[in-house]
Amino acid sequence: MTETANIVELMGGLDFDPAALKAKYLAERDKRLRDDANEQYVEVTAAFSHYVDDPYVDPGHTREPLFDTVEMAIIGGGFGGLLMAARMKEAGFNDIRMIEKAGDFGGTWYWNRYPGAMCDVESYCYLPLLEELNYIPEHKYSFAPEILEHSKRIARH
Ligand SMILES: Cc1cc2nc3c(=O)[nH]c(=O)nc-3n(C[C@H](O)[C@H](O)[C@H](O)COP(=O)(O)OP(=O)(O)OC[C@H]3O[C@@H](n4cnc5c(N)ncnc54)[C@H](O)[C@@H]3O)c2cc1C
Repeated sequence: MTETANIVELMGGLDFDPAALKAKYLAERDKRLRDDANEQYVEVTAAFSHYVDDPYVDPGHTREPLFDTVEMAIIGGGFGGLLMAARMKEAGFNDIRMIEKAGDFGGTWYWNRYPGAMCDVESYCYLPLLEELNYIPEHKYSFAPEILEHSKRIARH
């Protein structure tokens, strides 16, 4: 008997039908496979273009463009860009510029602020650099405002 089978027997057997569970997974997967693939999505242009406006900044806010040189430019201030910057600083690079079209850091968590939005991977795993920033998430699954604030905390640090 395999180790897994041994454990299952010790626990008094399974309380679910693995074949039925697998069939359910496959049925759910099939629902999401569509012939129109990417064509199913609406381009946020023309009548829909206002969906990509940034509602969190003063529309009148502009500043002069910069034409200087930096050692490293990172495009995007979401978790990807923030982590790249953090690791580059660890590696000894200091002349780093992050370029972000939004009004602040956070990426996904800057843009998505609908009520109840939260992560679905446990906060301790999902939120980057918790130990480095000595921050303990408030919930097992963090709500969007906390994740946005943590993004800004990373950026400030
Ligand atoms: C409600 C919700 C829950 C989620 N939960 C989880 C979870 O639990 N676990 C998980 O792993 N993932 C989760 N995600 C996915 C989430 O998007 C990623 O985890 C992660 O935040 C993506 O980071 P990113 O830096 O790759 O991209 P983004 O966060 O999208 O950041 C990209 C940034 O680049 C900027 N940008 C793009 N193009 C340009 C340009 N040309 N010039 C300047 N700036 C530009 C954008 O404005 C944006 O701020 C969730 C997403 C949502 C919406």
